[in-house]
Amino acid sequence: MRHDGRWWTEAVVYQVHVRSFADSDGDGVGDLAGVRSRLGYLELLGVDAIALSAVDPSPGLDQGYDVTDPREVDPLLGTLDDLDGLIADAHAHGLRVIVDVVPNHTSDQHEWFRAAVSSAPGSPERARYHFHPGRGERGERPPNNWQSVSGGPAWTRCTVTDEDGTRRPDEWYLHLFGPGQPDLNWENPEVWAELEKTLRFWCDRGVDGLRIDVAHGMAKAAGLPDDRRQPGWTPVSDALVDPRFDQDAVHDVHRMIRAVLDHYPDRMAVGEVGPVRDDARWACYVRRDELHLAVHPALREAAFDAAQVRTAVDRTLDAATSVGAPAVWTLANHDLVRPATRYGGEERDGAPGPARARAMALVALALPGAAFVYQGDELGLPDATPPDATPPDATPPEATPPDARRDPAREQSEHADRGRDGARVPLPWEGGAPGYGFTTGTPWLPVPEEYGALTAADQLEDPDSTLSLFRYALELRRGHPAFHGDQVEWFGAPAGCLAFRRTGSTLVCALNAGDRAVPLPPGDVLLTSGPLTECGELPPDTAAWLA
Ligand code: BGC
Ligand code: MG
Repeated sequence: MRHDGRWWTEAVVYQVHVRSFADSDGDGVGDLAGVRSRLGYLELLGVDAIALSAVDPSPGLDQGYDVTDPREVDPLLGTLDDLDGLIADAHAHGLRVIVDVVPNHTSDQHEWFRAAVSSAPGSPERARYHFHPGRGERGERPPNNWQSVSGGPAWTRCTVTDEDGTRRPDEWYLHLFGPGQPDLNWENPEVWAELEKTLRFWCDRGVDGLRIDVAHGMAKAAGLPDDRRQPGWTPVSDALVDPRFDQDAVHDVHRMIRAVLDHYPDRMAVGEVGPVRDDARWACYVRRDELHLAVHPALREAAFDAAQVRTAVDRTLDAATSVGAPAVWTLANHDLVRPATRYGGEERDGAPGPARARAMALVALALPGAAFVYQGDELGLPDATPPDATPPDATPPEATPPDARRDPAREQSEHADRGRDGARVPLPWEGGAPGYGFTTGTPWLPVPEEYGALTAADQLEDPDSTLSLFRYALELRRGHPAFHGDQVEWFGAPAGCLAFRRTGSTLVCALNAGDRAVPLPPGDVLLTSGPLTECGELPPDTAAWLA
C-alpha cells in the first residue's frame, strides 16, 4: 500500500457489486462475508482498492440506492461487524476500501420520508424533501414538467387519510429517480448536518474513500422552474440548461464533503458526475477544495473507434488537468452494458466484443491517473440480458423469464430501457449451474450457461485468459518503471489506429481499431491483448504495450 497520502492518484479500484460478487450464506445474494472470503482473489488480481456498491439498508427497489439508514448495513448483506471485519482484512491484504454514499435522495421507507408523508404541508418534516402542491384547479398536475432519469414524471402525488377515514389527494413530492427515491431538499440545513454525520461515521469506521452517488445532483434550480428542454417549450437561449442537475450550488455540498474528509488522513471522495453541460463545468467538481476524483463519462461512452477514443482521452485529461486533478479511467460499472457486449457482441460466436474489451482495458490501464475496473470485466463476461428489451406483452425468451429481471428501471421506462440486470448477474467462480461457486443456493439473477466457460478458477489456470491478461497488466502497471508521466503524447498511427506515449516515459500503448493488421510502433513488447500476427503485426481489435 502506498503511504504518501495521495494513494488514489494512480490506484486501480475494483468495483464490487456486493449482491453479485460472492454469497457466504446460501441465500443466493452476495454479501460482505462473501467479499471477505474472496479478498485473496483480489490481491492476486493486483488491484489497489475495492469500491463497494451501496451496502446500506434498503428495500432494494434500486439495488441499495434507495437507502433507509445511511449509517447501517443491509441485513441481507451482513452487519456493521462484517463490514469492520472486511475493512480490517482488506487492509491486511493491502487493499483500500471505498463505500458508497447517496446524498441526493433517500428511500421512501426512510423514517424522514415516512414522517414527511404523515405530516402537514409546510411542516418541518416535509421541508427535508421537495413537497409541493400540484398545478391545476385541484392540484391534479405535477408542480413542474420534470422527467425522472428512468423515464416518466419526476413527481408522485401523496394521499392523506383524514380523521374520518376518507382518503384525499395531497401534495406531490419530487424524485429524480424512481418514486421510491424521494429527493432531499439541499436548501435545508438539517439535510447538510445529516450528510456530515454520515461522512464522519464511515471515516471513523476506517474506510479509505467514499463514492458520492449522483454527485451532480443535490442542488436544484431555484424555484424549480419548468424544464424548457421538454416538448412544448419554444427554445430560448438557455433552453439547454437542465434545471434538475449540475446547478452551481452543488459545489457548496462538495466543499463541505471535502472539508470533512480533510480532517482524516489519506481519505478520498470520488464522484459519479453524470452528464453535465461541458467539460469546463465537469472540471469544477474536482477543483482543489472539492472531490478528489470524478468519473468523466467520455471514455465509456466512446465506441470502439480510434478517433472517438482519442477524443475521449483528450477531453478527460484536459478537463482533469485544467484543475490539477488526476483523471479516472473506466469502461464500465453496474449501470452500463458490459464492454464485451457493448463493443460488438451481437452475434454469439466470433463477435469482436470480447477482444475489443480486452484491447480497451489495456488502453484504460495505460493512461495516467486512476482506473476503475468493474467486477467481472476481468473475466471478460458478456452482458447477461439479450440486447432487445422484451415488449411488455410479448413472451420473453426462455433464458430470461420476466420475473428474473429485477431492475425497476425497465418497468419505469415501460420497457423502453432494457434495465441494468445484464451487468449485475453473479460472478462465475468455479464449477457449474446453478451457483457457479457464487452461491450454494439459487442465484438471485440466473447465471447464463455461457458464464460456465468463463469461471475465475479456469481462467486463473489459463495464461491466455482475460483474467491472466488483467493480472499481467496490473503487475506491469504496478512494477514496471515506464508507468509514469501524467500526460500523453499522440503518435501518428495508421487509419483506424491510435498510439500514445506517457510523457517523460517510454511506455507506448497502441490500439488497432481498424480492419487490417498494422506494424507495431518501435519498442519492446510488454503485453498484448491478443496474439500478434505471424509476422509480428498488431491485428484488428487488439492493443499492445511497448517500452
Ligand atoms: C447509481 C445507480 C443508481 C442511481 C441513483 C447512480 O449513480 O450508479 O445505480 O440507480 O445513481 O441512485
Ligand atoms: Mg448471502
